[in-house]
Amino acid sequence: MSATPSTPPPALRPYLTTRHDLLWQEADVFAAEHVAPRAARMEAAPGRVERKVADLMAAQGWFAVTVPTAFGGLGAGHVAKTILVHRIARVSAAAAAILQATLIPVGALLHFATYEQKGRWLPRVADGSLLLSIAVTEPGAGGHIGGIETAAERAGNQWVLSGSKIHIGNSHLAGAHLVVARTARPGVRTSEALTAFMVESDRPGLCVADHRAGLGLHGFSVGRLDLDHVRVPEDNVVGEVGQGLAVALSSSILYGRPNLAAVSLGIHEAVVATTTARLKTRARYRGTLSDLSVLRDRVGGMEARLRAGRILAYQAVHLLDQGLPCDVDLINAKYLGHQWAAQSAQDAMELHGAHALDRDHVLQRLWRDIQHTYPPAGTGEVQRIGLADAAFGEDHIQWSEYLATPGARDRPGPTSA
Ligand SMILES: Cc1cc2nc3c(=O)[nH]c(=O)nc-3n(C[C@H](O)[C@H](O)[C@H](O)COP(=O)(O)OP(=O)(O)OC[C@H]3O[C@@H](n4cnc5c(N)ncnc54)[C@H](O)[C@@H]3O)c2cc1C
Repeated sequence: MSATPSTPPPALRPYLTTRHDLLWQEADVFAAEHVAPRAARMEAAPGRVERKVADLMAAQGWFAVTVPTAFGGLGAGHVAKTILVHRIARVSAAAAAILQATLIPVGALLHFATYEQKGRWLPRVADGSLLLSIAVTEPGAGGHIGGIETAAERAGNQWVLSGSKIHIGNSHLAGAHLVVARTARPGVRTSEALTAFMVESDRPGLCVADHRAGLGLHGFSVGRLDLDHVRVPEDNVVGEVGQGLAVALSSSILYGRPNLAAVSLGIHEAVVATTTARLKTRARYRGTLSDLSVLRDRVGGMEARLRAGRILAYQAVHLLDQGLPCDVDLINAKYLGHQWAAQSAQDAMELHGAHALDRDHVLQRLWRDIQHTYPPAGTGEVQRIGLADAAFGEDHIQWSEYLATPGARDRPGPTSA
């Protein structure tokens, strides 16, 4: 996949401003100069967490792309965020995963933290000295947030947290984790039973397990946090006590889903480009494989999915930037973005014959990386539940509309119904 800068395709024009065009160029230049030369090394050393690319993206201020300028951020919105994640992902999905994993808890802080808390953490994200993670998933609670067992108990003006979190993106890079824990006795409904806490990574009792390589996304850490009576002050509570489900769900829908759609889109573009390059150069009869109509038909299907996925990804975040209700569009962009890219990656493997099965072929990385955009921010089943609700006219939860207005955290939210 060429890392040469490109201009946005005309189909995206309705969603892009001149500022977006500049960011697109900037991201492409960055990817070519700093990510592409490291992508092969990241792939070859799956046991290593990639810090250098994270530091370089931090120096660009990209972890604060959605943070208002008043807190030192770029104040550039959701389309801008998608551009960064998408353009980096077409060169390295692992690097894009590092970027998107911090952007989710940043979003949660923007919507639920107090002004004082924002002033404490966001400027450090903006100057690149602090990366964050969001820690929701547990060994016994993945898609089922109500199954969270990590407990937080009040002790004077502190909270004491104990439990384990797994599959936490940026576990090894984050200087603070936004941990969702149970703060109510059994029987209290989930919408009131959980609370979000900022837990700095150097708090006594917090242990990050050794990094273990996954199937793909080599260089990205998706690790385990063990909390053994970790004490945090009262003012590390993000949102109200009992609002943890709202923090987790809203940041997953408004930030996680479009971020994963953007990662899938970047991988998808690389898959199609890799495949057409191969078919154009692989000799067959008096021409190349790209002359065979049966193979062109398959590539036509890949291109159709890619183009549709691109529009879904950008249209959804454009609606979000406009403050319009678009939860279902965000869900759909993530759902189909993954599914279509995974289908194209499988087609690409087959269109390469045995060639891509050789060691070190780039398609292996793309095929493995796309498997990782299925579970986070809701699996396919979870997305289809939301889509079915929409089909039956039961999509009452519109975080996009609710959180677009100032002071939203002080009013009852969609989960309090
Ligand atoms: C690359 C990556 C990054 C991640 N980053 C983070 C992160 O930063 N923070 C974090 O907290 N977590 C993170 N996760 C974890 C992710 O959110 C979970 O993997 C996801 O919620 C699914 O949980 P699970 O893996 O335990 O699957 P399970 O919940 O065990 O589900 C297994 C299967 O059963 C289906 N299923 C489960 N329940 C139902 C149901 N009620 N109805 C229908 N089908 C159901 C699921 O769709 C799935 O197919 C990450 C995961 C990956 C792969």
